[in-house]
Amino acid sequence: MKERILIVGGGLSGLTLAYLLSKRNIEAKVLEASPRLGGRIQTIKGTLETPLELGATWFSDMHKNMFNLLNELGLQKYEQFSKGKSLFQTKSFEPPQEFFVPASQSPSYRIADGTQALIDALANQLDNENIKLNTKVKAITDIGNALEVKISKGQKIQADKVILCVPPQLVDSQIQFSPELPNSVTKVLPTVHTWMAGSIKFVLEYNNPFWRNNGHSGMLFSHSGIVSEMHDHTNAKENKFGFTGFLNGGAISYSQEVRKEFVIRQLSELLGNEVLNYSSYSDKVWSDKFVVSESQTILRPHQNNGHSLSQNSYMNDKLFFSGTETATEFGGYMEGAIISAFKVNKRIKLVSKE
Ligand SMILES: Cc1cc2nc3c(=O)[nH]c(=O)nc-3n(C[C@H](O)[C@H](O)[C@H](O)COP(=O)(O)OP(=O)(O)OC[C@H]3O[C@@H](n4cnc5c(N)ncnc54)[C@H](O)[C@@H]3O)c2cc1C
Repeated sequence: MKERILIVGGGLSGLTLAYLLSKRNIEAKVLEASPRLGGRIQTIKGTLETPLELGATWFSDMHKNMFNLLNELGLQKYEQFSKGKSLFQTKSFEPPQEFFVPASQSPSYRIADGTQALIDALANQLDNENIKLNTKVKAITDIGNALEVKISKGQKIQADKVILCVPPQLVDSQIQFSPELPNSVTKVLPTVHTWMAGSIKFVLEYNNPFWRNNGHSGMLFSHSGIVSEMHDHTNAKENKFGFTGFLNGGAISYSQEVRKEFVIRQLSELLGNEVLNYSSYSDKVWSDKFVVSESQTILRPHQNNGHSLSQNSYMNDKLFFSGTETATEFGGYMEGAIISAFKVNKRIKLVSKE
């Protein structure tokens, strides 16, 4: 059977696109290589059921498409907590500097119940049958009136149109095209920076916000400790508590147990012994096969995001690029993922049924 549309990648871009198409009564099948939806969005629950973000967390007033999508899906946002003393550690042998974030500053927002709530809400709008997990796309062949897509289990699926909602670097390293994509495109794909690839995010959960009670915001920036950036991670109802943040790049060489030890040591020196009473710790190194290709080159942040060649269609208007790294505005961010889906949705014209 021939599908009308195949979407490669079940992250924010792929799911937003499937949702937009469903509003036009166009069925699309989402093929996701990993065992879960969300891609670089991943909210886990701590032992006390606190939503903890291992991936994307914040957005701002500039992200209008994100605001609109959340409203449309009936999801709530709330401001990132930043009241109280914040800390800046310049050197390990000097006490941290204290600073206060002005209340007038444009806030960062989070999604109530976790960023995953957005992924779940989009998936809930789709027919379960149209979401295929553990389904990696390996090859795409132009067979004239359709594209033939080869997936991990050796099966082949035909479709009128295929939209690639995966980081361009992975398109290059994981998918074989026949006939090959133009030279200009294959040259650019490995040079498109994938936002946050290689980063390490940690989460810590507590049964009380002891730092708030001691006048701290929970915000920390450090040039000297394993934690390079940290924020309060209290939920929207303010009844579940924790921290989230990033570890410095060197932490990749330690085991998770050692990373945890270093995190707890740094934070207890800064915020006191209550740090030791955590309920759960987790972290994630974002360098698995669903985010980066094996042969990594060093790229500038956002290099070639929104490249003009990713705005074109290929294989006689049957193959399109989406995904945040193809967005010409806010490339790399959740807003970019949504923008890219809106753009491709507009460009997909089907002859009948609509
Ligand atoms: C640690 C971290 C923190 C972040 N923080 C923020 C933040 O605070 N604010 C913000 O706006 N953004 C943040 N981001 C970025 C944000 O997560 C991304 O912009 C957004 O989620 C990208 O969505 P996407 O759908 O374009 O790509 P992805 O989420 O990467 O989705 C691509 C999907 O394609 C799948 N896939 C890959 N190859 C194949 C294949 N061959 N076949 C089928 N499926 C395949 C992958 O498994 C993945 O699910 C963060 C990212 C990370 C990792």
